Amino acid sequence: MLDLLRPLHVSTDNISRMRPPLVPLATLIGRELRNEKIEKPFVKYGQAALAKKGEDYFLIKPDCQRVPGDLSTSFSVFAQIFDGHNGVSAAIFVKEKLLDNVLSAIPQDITREEWLQALPQALVAGFVKTDIEFQQKGETSGTTVTFVVIDEWTVTVASVGDSRCILDSQGGVVSLLTVDHRLEENVEERERVTASGGEVGRLNVFGGNEVGPLRCWPGGLCLSRSIGDTDVGEFIVPIPHVKQVKLSNAGGRLVIASDGIWDALSSDMAAKSCRGLPAEIAAKLVVKEALRSRGLKDDTTCLVVDIIPSDIPVLPAIPRKKHNMFSSLFGKKALSSVSKSTKKLSAVGVVEELFEEGSAILAERLSKYFPANANSGLCRCAVCQVDQTPGDSLSVNSGSFFSPGSKPREGPFLCSNCQKKKDAMEGKRSSRPTVMT
Ligand SMILES: [Zn+2]
Repeated sequence: MLDLLRPLHVSTDNISRMRPPLVPLATLIGRELRNEKIEKPFVKYGQAALAKKGEDYFLIKPDCQRVPGDLSTSFSVFAQIFDGHNGVSAAIFVKEKLLDNVLSAIPQDITREEWLQALPQALVAGFVKTDIEFQQKGETSGTTVTFVVIDEWTVTVASVGDSRCILDSQGGVVSLLTVDHRLEENVEERERVTASGGEVGRLNVFGGNEVGPLRCWPGGLCLSRSIGDTDVGEFIVPIPHVKQVKLSNAGGRLVIASDGIWDALSSDMAAKSCRGLPAEIAAKLVVKEALRSRGLKDDTTCLVVDIIPSDIPVLPAIPRKKHNMFSSLFGKKALSSVSKSTKKLSAVGVVEELFEEGSAILAERLSKYFPANANSGLCRCAVCQVDQTPGDSLSVNSGSFFSPGSKPREGPFLCSNCQKKKDAMEGKRSSRPTVMT
């Protein structure tokens, strides 16, 4: 009884232990829903390769960090890097340099969301910078690149060439995250190459008979985009097609592979051949399936990456239903049509499309996130990230990218070296840049 009359002398510590602050139910439910959403998925991967020429390279970095040392900012990088022609030096160079060049083009001290928004443009800058650096080595080989960044449920794919990346989302919908930069199949690219001063045609042999796929001349490459290839025209550009999607909480599977796979298997066939199996086995199965139908004619390599909800240990098998609506997407005729796959993807709501841009015009790809440094009076080149005094640099006017209401700002700055590269890619300058080593 006395206790009740005695004044209470309790430390604030005790109070909080005795009486936890009340949380409204709505907040609790909201938090639970949010937690479910932001729970990081597992990323599991497998790779398989059969070498004919030994010119295929991978880059696998599952534990990168946006903020070095901070595990909560982790993301994964998977790149399929191949050398199509003239040796392995371009593939090795890209494997060593590309990731750093991309990351250095992303502004520091920004939020995760801003980082993801800046990533597509940083990929463009990183690809072009890597190409310029490789040209300066004075070597002639070239490589296709398919570069995949996975940050939780957001997948960003940048690619030049024809090493396709497909997404098999839960629900059995297979979609293409890359565009094949093959002259044979890509009308837009043929037109661009021709407009920039290249010639497109087939190989002429034995008294004028045309053989093989469409190629561009000089050089005779079947691809319209690559990194390297210093001995072909500058109209073979390193500007990647970039696509960014957000998966549903059910996750999904990426299959990234060289043309050795895709010449033998359709996207649907590749996805179906390994559904429900762990990534390591899946990659081997896809390679095996391709060999079975076509034999070993080229380097045949495959990377399978599963993005798995953390409460499900493996991707559940999907019943093999027919999806007639989508099967038509993956016929040869539809390969170059990215708008088709875009429409269908959104229609079924399996993934959220965040970004897609494939233009080969550099000014259209570098428009935001590269403000001049007002404090130092220096301007940073949007491609190579080198600081320049404004007098030394040239600006690319891209005012049309800003909404009418926003304050017009001059486009990104390019140093004279990167401006030369830009002009050359657009066919404004016929000669190659001087090798600067
Ligand atoms: Zn530059």
